[in-house]
Amino acid sequence: MTVASSSSIRALRELPDSAQLILVDGADVLLLDEQIYWPAVLLKSVLDPLAMAVAVDVASDKSVYAMSAPGGQPAGWHESRCAARQLMQRSSPTGVDHIGKALQLVHWISSHRFCGVCGQPLHAHPVERALQCPQCQHRVFPRISPCVIVLVRRDSHILLARHAGRGSATFSCLAGFMEVGETPEQTICREVMEETAIEVCNIRYVRSQSWPFPSQLMLGFHADYAGGEIRVDEQEILEARWFEASSLPTALPPSFSVAGQLIELFLQSLKV
Ligand SMILES: [Zn+2]
Repeated sequence: MTVASSSSIRALRELPDSAQLILVDGADVLLLDEQIYWPAVLLKSVLDPLAMAVAVDVASDKSVYAMSAPGGQPAGWHESRCAARQLMQRSSPTGVDHIGKALQLVHWISSHRFCGVCGQPLHAHPVERALQCPQCQHRVFPRISPCVIVLVRRDSHILLARHAGRGSATFSCLAGFMEVGETPEQTICREVMEETAIEVCNIRYVRSQSWPFPSQLMLGFHADYAGGEIRVDEQEILEARWFEASSLPTALPPSFSVAGQLIELFLQSLKV
């Protein structure tokens, strides 16, 4: 892939020595002495100078970029890796922002190597944070997938579910991807019905969160119970239950996640 010096996507050798880089490997981040930022001047001496870096935060004094972690571990480095989810739980808001953007941008570049129209290798756009086809000029920007996440309330009870797959011991809110043509409210009604056979009403937007696993925009809502009895398919949802506010399960979503915040805001509303 060709890179241009003024692009948001640049060769490592073109970055200022003072730039900081976040090295991403899938959903992991490589750490240097327990820090997420690697000095560009260090990486230039040991990595491919043409390796691509993408701008994460160039408005701040730091000038932060992200790139794919190199294969293997260069000799002499004190390298360790950590799951981005764990890092985000203990990072500052700025750190969470940088880690999230780094994951999404590296995933975007690594999964968009060729033009979807004519098949040519994509190049870095000369100015914008975008990839462009030199043959047909098709332009690709980072993709974001909107999702809804909803906490359903029934008097002083809330509906929580254990999802199949990763983190299956945790009881969390119901969530799902928006489909083409849907409003968030329609997605909520469909997902809650599909996953638990519960009808909801009085849907209220609460807050949103970028969720970089790999590129969701989570739209968080509260809703009220309108009817039905819980029934799960045991494929996507293993178990769903109404929990009284005073006896919530111990395995809940982390407080930095919008799911954890939806539950916490519900608990606060009971105290008013
Ligand atoms: Zn093309």
